[in-house]
Amino acid sequence: QAKQAGRNTLRFFDPLMQAVAVRRAMIESDLRQAAKRGELKLFYQIQVDGKSQVTGVEALLRWEHPEHGMIPPNDFIPVAEESYLIVAIGNWVVATACRQLARWASDPRTAELTMAINISPLQFQQPDFVANLAAVLETTGARPGRLKLELTETLFMEEPEAVRETMLRVQGMGVRFSLDDFGTGYSSLSYLSCLPLDQLKIDQSFVRTLFEDASNEMISATIISLGRNLGLEVIAEGVETLAHRDWLEAHGCHAYQGYLYSRPLPIHALTRLLESSTCAAGR
Ligand code: C2E
Ligand code: MG
Ligand code: MG
Ligand code: MG
Repeated sequence: QAKQAGRNTLRFFDPLMQAVAVRRAMIESDLRQAAKRGELKLFYQIQVDGKSQVTGVEALLRWEHPEHGMIPPNDFIPVAEESYLIVAIGNWVVATACRQLARWASDPRTAELTMAINISPLQFQQPDFVANLAAVLETTGARPGRLKLELTETLFMEEPEAVRETMLRVQGMGVRFSLDDFGTGYSSLSYLSCLPLDQLKIDQSFVRTLFEDASNEMISATIISLGRNLGLEVIAEGVETLAHRDWLEAHGCHAYQGYLYSRPLPIHALTRLLESSTCAAGR
């Protein structure tokens, strides 16, 4: 490994670097077993509309490691991506979320909820992605129109035309798309208008600290007007306070997600939250 990195590269001399490398190796080998052992879970965070009514949820992956406790996705998803494990894990996420969506369909109180799932670029670019998604929708009975795939701007960097074509096939099945973490990547604005998108999602890094940095207000307002001009729904993630929400609403944002409404919850807690009310957290 050190040899590969080249003679002039200092590696593993720094104990912190070594700890990081060891942790990474540990994560990768344990991650191979995690799905089989049932250690992966989906949590769900509600999304609300302008009237603070719950319209759907985003499924967020959690790994309950038997020794190391809960490992956050930002710690293991990059490892999963580098080792291709993200494909198998991502397929598990799609199947699990669609099974949940199908369960909701039988109860009038939950039948209209949407399910947003995060799709890794590598997963989306698998040759069998569309066939696999179609098969999962078929076997679970989940309604495609209630499913939303969250993509990120990095997906469009390599083969944008192929990606667009896959999106069109998926859209043809009735599934919708949201562009996640918007504002952190390098989207070509002309290209954006050619994609079959339904929603832009303002990255939480701008929203959480909306008032702490003047550029965050400027960026958020710009994304909202861009989305509106493109005819897209705009959702803000990382909405932590009523002041955030009021500011976003005044600037034309359509939908909200964040700790103000709820943290991501395991399914039983989400069910309780959905039953308790129409979520009056906002107002
Ligand atoms: P994301 O898709 O942008 O998800 C939003 C993240 O912001 C989530 O972090 C959520 O818990 C957090 N968040 C939501 N509201 C607030 C808030 O008000 N304040 C703060 N401080 N944070 C808030 P989480 O669950 O740790 O997920 C991190 C990232 O991991 C996700 O970012 C997504 O990129 C990735 N991820 C999660 N689940 C999956 C999955 O199933 N597949 C793939 N490929 N990636 C996933
Ligand atoms: Mg997301
Ligand atoms: Mg995001
Ligand atoms: Mg993110």
